[in-house]
Amino acid sequence: MREAMLPVYAPPTEVFERGEGMRLFTTEGDAYLDFISGIAVNALGHAHPRMIEALNDQAHKLWHTSNMFRVPAGEQLAEKYCAKTFADQVFFTNSGTEAIECALKTARKYHYVNGEPHRQEFITFTGAFHGRSFGAINAGGNPAYLEGFGEPMAGFRQLEFGNMEAVRNAITKDTCAVLIEPVQGEGGVREVPVEELIELRKLCDETGTLLIYDEVQCGAGRTGKLFAHQWADGKADPDIMAVAKGVGGGFPLGACLVTEEAGKGMKPGSHGSTYGGNPLAMAVGNVVFDTLCEDGFLEQVQQVAGTLKQGLASLKDRYPELVEDVRGKGLLTGIKLKTPNKALQVKARDHKLLCGVAGDNVLRLAPPLIATDEDIREAINILDACLADTSPEDTA
Ligand SMILES: *Cc1c(COP(=O)(O)O)cnc(C)c1O
Repeated sequence: MREAMLPVYAPPTEVFERGEGMRLFTTEGDAYLDFISGIAVNALGHAHPRMIEALNDQAHKLWHTSNMFRVPAGEQLAEKYCAKTFADQVFFTNSGTEAIECALKTARKYHYVNGEPHRQEFITFTGAFHGRSFGAINAGGNPAYLEGFGEPMAGFRQLEFGNMEAVRNAITKDTCAVLIEPVQGEGGVREVPVEELIELRKLCDETGTLLIYDEVQCGAGRTGKLFAHQWADGKADPDIMAVAKGVGGGFPLGACLVTEEAGKGMKPGSHGSTYGGNPLAMAVGNVVFDTLCEDGFLEQVQQVAGTLKQGLASLKDRYPELVEDVRGKGLLTGIKLKTPNKALQVKARDHKLLCGVAGDNVLRLAPPLIATDEDIREAINILDACLADTSPEDTA
């Protein structure tokens, strides 16, 4: 019974019972083209044979021991993350929120063991989304997500997105870290230009401030690089990074990646998780990571992303009275609309195309990374038909 669910979500009536690649199928047998993939989660699409095999094999062997024992597949996955990123060490979690919590705690502990325990303030940005725990809603700063949950926590300072001058002025001897999504998801699919990331890195270096990236949504190959900040070619590496969503491909998995230096305060007992890094998640996480790293995989994502970008640009050209802007990076894209985003989302769903929405009246598209040019054309054609059927006067 739907009434038995705490009504914090308002899903449509369709019920999906099966998925395959780019498609989801309802109990009625209707097929939908999935261009949101559980909000940037199903990176390899639905029911990927290698993921099923890895999960099944592991399910027959061992599900859980807790981190009081070694999990070899976790050690392997951590080593792979470190080999392909700035990181030296990894903590596994079950979600993005938990990865953020680990990042925030790691940053404060770093300054604490460095003899600067007063460095507690996190600098964050308008439009940010970092999850739903008390720490994460305070980091995100969205008034709607904070309302009714008590006094805002001390130690978070929010600056205007894209205002580098404000960052320069805001960093003090009490600043702990700058926390930023290289591409904002929830906030409206807004990319931080690579030059700004490089400048943030410099500012942090000059002031002994830690740089934390939230790549929960924009990581895992979504922008056409393994992680979005890697478009800066090593010139804007963070000290700490939270990932989740796509890295598990649909199995609950997140991680907090750190440099040895940034992680130096974290010792036995500093942090923990019962389920984080469990054998099932590690089995799937290894397959997802290996697939993302296969020769040509990310190049294919970049190529298809180019097709999507072109398609969206053509929609903007054809419907200037409806489309204000197209934005994003790689296969994390948004259409900023002049008519309500949710109305277009519903219309697309009526045409069997699943899209998301984001802040700033954006329709969000985040298809599985296995999307082909043909899938892109199909989606663009459906959106074209939906826009053709929309009037600038439509309000809901
Ligand atoms: C989804 C998201 C989170 C939270 O992840 P959960 O797995 O829902 O806890 C954090 N940061 C960003 C950027 C996200 O998109």
